[in-house]
Order: sequence, then structure tokens, then C-alpha cells
Amino acid sequence: MPGLFDLTGEVALVTGASRGIGAVLARGLAEHGATVVLTARTDGPLQQAARDLADRSGATVHAVAFDVTDEQGVVDGVRRVRELAGEPTVLVNNAGVQHRQPLVDTSAADWHRVLDTNLTSAFLLAREAAPAMVAAGRGKVLNVGSVQTSLARPGLSAYSASKGGLAMLTRVMCAEWAASGVQVNALAPGYVETELTRPLRDDPAFDTWIRGRTPAGRWGTPGDLVGAAVFLVSRAADFVSGQVLTVDGGLTAVV
Ligand code: NDP
Repeated sequence: MPGLFDLTGEVALVTGASRGIGAVLARGLAEHGATVVLTARTDGPLQQAARDLADRSGATVHAVAFDVTDEQGVVDGVRRVRELAGEPTVLVNNAGVQHRQPLVDTSAADWHRVLDTNLTSAFLLAREAAPAMVAAGRGKVLNVGSVQTSLARPGLSAYSASKGGLAMLTRVMCAEWAASGVQVNALAPGYVETELTRPLRDDPAFDTWIRGRTPAGRWGTPGDLVGAAVFLVSRAADFVSGQVLTVDGGLTAVV
């Protein structure tokens, strides 16, 4: 059906969009017609990413810097998004951090930093953006999980808890908003080449392990995720709600 994946007229707010997966997902949404608003904490790289994307895609691109762990910052940030671009009709909760350390050595501060960035942020952002979607009777929320949404690894207690929690938050948002025409889903990427995974890719043992462990035999790229993300925020997914779509080269399909 023509136009099923067309995002013309949508206003997409993408968190953690100054680099890595968020920047590439934002580009995919822009290339499918959406006006995009990129957000991250650090203003310089964020503004540069917005300029690069506007030049490359010809789309309308805005940038608003705020910290997704700061409750008032999120309220003010979403208000600024509205002023610049209009009410968001698509929210992509992508900002995230990693922390690798055995559980017994993990400080409460690191635990809270990871949970606040990866999980509580999705609650805060959606609490600001979803009411207008519900009132309008349409909208999409996409939460970026991980293979750690369903599989554990030693040293990833806070990260795995945050990503597992995100799957349940996705389902609760579905339970509360699906009847109002708002679809909420999660995207669970496998191991993807970004700054977040540079230490892993620089470790020859881990690199060899991940290539062997992944049926596709390689690391993912952010571009591998674009099709699934565009699908989940498009009209094509109007009856897809509360799901976790894993894009991992087959990693979670095999042991
Ligand atoms: P990157 O580290 O490359 O990018 C993270 C982005 O999030 C940056 O734009 C960063 O900008 C922003 N960010 C981090 N903390 C905050 C904060 N407190 N407030 C606002 N923005 C913030 O990460 P990836 O692109 O690799 O990861 C993106 C998402 O994908 C994460 O949720 C991650 O867990 C998930 N993921 C990644 C995988 C991978 O293999 N790379 C695999 C599975 C899931 P700034 O620092 O300026 O704020």
C-alpha cells in the first residue's frame, strides 16, 4: 500500500541523537518525511549533528539540548520542542549509557545513573509527550531496549535491569494508551558498532566471541536498525502494540 511507511507531517523527537544509533534512526525518520528534533546533553555535537542531517536529508531538523535524567529539564526540553517544531507525534526514547562491573562492586550512584538514563527517562519523556498524542487519538512511542532486555550477562546488572524494565514499561504504556490510538513498542538491537561498544570491539577476545555468537557473523550497524524503527513509528504498525522487536542478526534465536 503506498504511503504505509511515509512519515510526512510527523514530528519525531529522538533522544540521544547526537551520535550512534539515535543519530542514524533520526536520519531514517527524516528520510521518510518526518520533521525531526534531535536531543542530547552536549550542545556542540548536537547542533553539528542537526546541521549535518539537514544538509544531507533536506528535512526540517531541530536540536534541543537537555539531560533526560533531569525531571525539570525534560519538562522544559519538551516545551522547547513544541515551540520549535510543534507537538511531537513520534517519541523515540533512545538515550542510554552502559556500565560494566560486577554487581558486588557497583556503586549505588552508578546503578541510579544507568537506571535514570535508560529507564526513568522513558517514563519522564512519555509523561510529557503522550498526553497530546492520546488527546489527538494517534501517536507512536518507540523505546530502545537491547538484547539485555531478555538475556543477562555478568557485569551488566544495572544495564540489564534497565533494559528489562523498559520492556515492561512498554507494555504498561500499551495497556494505558492503545485504546487511544497510540502505539508503544520497543526495538531491541543486538551488538552494534557505536561509541558505546568501542571498548568491546577493541577487545579481540570479545570481538571474536560476538562474531561467533551472532548467526549473521558480524556486528550490527546503526543502519541495520532503521527499517524496523521506521516500521514501528509508521502507519504500517497501527495495530502493533506493546511488542519488543529484536534486530540482532539472530543472536537471541540461538544458544
Ligand atoms: P552512544 O553512546 O553512541 O550515544 C548515546 C547518545 O545518548 C548520545 O547522543 C548521548 O549524548 C546521549 N545521552 C547519553 N546520556 C544522556 C542523558 N543523560 N541525557 C540526554 N542524552 C544522553 O550510544 P548508542 O548509540 O550505542 O546507544 C543508543 C541506545 O541504543 C542506548 O539506549 C543503548 O543502550 C542502546 N543499544 C545500543 C547497542 C549497541 O551495541 N551500541 C545495543 C543495544 C542497545 P550526550 O553524551 O551528549 O548526552
